[in-house]
Amino acid sequence: MKTLALLFAVANVVLAQSNTYVLKAARLFDSASGQVVAPGMLVVSNGVIQSVGGSAPQGATVLDLGDATLLPGFIDAHTHLSDEFNPDYNGDALLSLQRSIPEKAIRATANARKTVMAGFTTVRDVGSDHFIDVGLRNAINAGYVPGPRMLVSVHALGSTGGHCDDGDGFRYGLFGHETGPEEGVINSPDEARYAVRFNVKYGADVIKTCASGGVLSPTDEIDVPQLTQAELNALVDEAHTLHRKTAAHSHGAESSKRAILAGIDSIEHGTFLDDEDMRMMHDRGTFLVPTLTTRVGLAESKFPPLVRAKADRAVKQQDIMVKRALALGVKIALGTDAAVFPHGDNALEFAFMVADGMTPAQSLMAGTTSAAELLGLQDKVGALKPGMLADVVAVPGNPIENIKLMQSVIFVMKDGVILRNDRAVPR
Ligand SMILES: [Zn+2]
Repeated sequence: MKTLALLFAVANVVLAQSNTYVLKAARLFDSASGQVVAPGMLVVSNGVIQSVGGSAPQGATVLDLGDATLLPGFIDAHTHLSDEFNPDYNGDALLSLQRSIPEKAIRATANARKTVMAGFTTVRDVGSDHFIDVGLRNAINAGYVPGPRMLVSVHALGSTGGHCDDGDGFRYGLFGHETGPEEGVINSPDEARYAVRFNVKYGADVIKTCASGGVLSPTDEIDVPQLTQAELNALVDEAHTLHRKTAAHSHGAESSKRAILAGIDSIEHGTFLDDEDMRMMHDRGTFLVPTLTTRVGLAESKFPPLVRAKADRAVKQQDIMVKRALALGVKIALGTDAAVFPHGDNALEFAFMVADGMTPAQSLMAGTTSAAELLGLQDKVGALKPGMLADVVAVPGNPIENIKLMQSVIFVMKDGVILRNDRAVPR
């Protein structure tokens, strides 16, 4: 038995090593220049892009996808794979208390699968409970379940009663103790430092904070600052000291100003950013992650009156804000807030960005090179060039002519492994 198992193991290794592919399609999107080149051809070997164009190496598997465009694997800088969309707000709150943690983790694997099959081969997952994000990331990396490459944040860090306080909206004492730093709730610069260290100790790749109120939190106002300048300074300083980038959920102008001054790497949502915020972001290179697709879930949901009023106010302002940010030259990376709408629909964001004034090429760059830069992964993903990880996606036709084609992915390769090929010839 042992010998047989060993033989199988050896055979698998040999198979995994002889994985040289030539990927052909009518077009290829060069995310560095924003240009579509024709025809498209890539050589991939051992999980890495060997060449763009050139000749096919001997023994390579040639896949011709025909009238399609090859693109770098898409990147979503704002997901919540541990949660899922439920239009019934109160029903979802009850379910999340009833479901066991293992059940939540198993459901998260389905969310990861939907995300990668939609072409998103890398995500930055910005807020989770019970370390489900860490477990999911590790299981994907070990090959147990298909999913995107994940940068995870453990708990998002915010104040008592704020957007990231999971006890918010429930009666005092219900969970046995008041939420604290180990659940992501901080109330001083020292607690901010402790919570960052705690998150990093237990697996965080990135630190997420809630600098303002939010749409879905039941008791707060959407744009009020929820952390002091000193708390944000300590949080960002500690994260950067530990070589972790930072992201701030921030709808308000003042909350964003504090986060930008603290040195935050990205403002998430940014709904009520003012011109001063945007100029500071432009000057410092702070990214904006607009999460426009949230409107899909917000429109369909049954909310209590306070949440409904916040949702409507935010959605009305989003497009105005993004147009202004584009005019002032703020760097924008694609992020969706998936879980506020169904996982797998992330590519809707491209069309929403174009509707707000981006060119199709700019939106593709926001979801590839720009997002890679924000995540600090620009040497690994976000472009089709030699030496990069072989994350390759194909969509039918030409997405520069019709951005909605980004929602019709036909081919996904991650790390040189084909996860999806709708144009495979049946044998
Ligand atoms: Zn979010």
